[in-house]
Amino acid sequence: MTPAHTKYEDKLISTISHKLRTPLNSILGFSELLLDQAFGHLNEKQRHYLNNINKSGEALLALLNDLIDLMNVKWGDIQVQYSAFPLNNAIGNAVQSIQQFADLKNISLEIQSDPRIETIKADEPKIEKILHYLLSNAVKFTPSGGQVKITTKYLDRPPSRLSSSGFQNFVEVSVTDTGIGIQPNDQEKIFSEFYQVNSTQSQEFEGTGLGLSVARDLITMHHGDIWVESEEGKGSRFIFTIPLPD
Ligand code: ADP
Repeated sequence: MTPAHTKYEDKLISTISHKLRTPLNSILGFSELLLDQAFGHLNEKQRHYLNNINKSGEALLALLNDLIDLMNVKWGDIQVQYSAFPLNNAIGNAVQSIQQFADLKNISLEIQSDPRIETIKADEPKIEKILHYLLSNAVKFTPSGGQVKITTKYLDRPPSRLSSSGFQNFVEVSVTDTGIGIQPNDQEKIFSEFYQVNSTQSQEFEGTGLGLSVARDLITMHHGDIWVESEEGKGSRFIFTIPLPD
């Protein structure tokens, strides 16, 4: 990560954030108004093309938001803002953000929380963002009728990958799906920026290849770790651990 950001990079982030997002929001807002037939009845063709405008606008907005997250993580001088919050609230909010998408695909969402974890000390919006990225991938890459499970676990000793971290207690969060899975050769690469598995199966999914890279950076800022265990055709389990400071 580049520690210092320059005026040029600041300007780029702010231009992309405001100058592109504002007209895009108007494309989205007005196409929704028209689709709601607020200004008159639409014939089938008009509805079809308006729907295309609206869906493309949404895809563009998702891409912009991912790009802004990436630029902020790479260039911005964002820092971890620690506060104590109930981990289950962050999980609940992240679940809510993808619930509609899961319902559309008839995917069940289950939460299994370790009762030993109530509040944790971390950066709440960043933890929510990480969970959102993992959950939206889990739903995206799981066929209709599948299952997604979120599990939390309290660890009273460091996981082996973080044994020299100097912290004692950790929380482990995993997101498990019954989706298409990831072959061993791709399991590390998917955490690189813009990397998407080049299979005919995953090409049909929209995405930017940025979510996991941003998630890993946000977890690293918390002195934590993230990895995946997966079997092609069976499903994936994304696991992250972060230390629990006193
Ligand atoms: P995006 O989802 O926008 O493509 P990500 O960085 O979040 O970007 O993920 C990178 C790639 O990793 C995805 O394109 C996909 O190929 C693979 N991937 C991520 N999560 C899963 C999952 N739960 N199941 C199968 N493949 C996944």
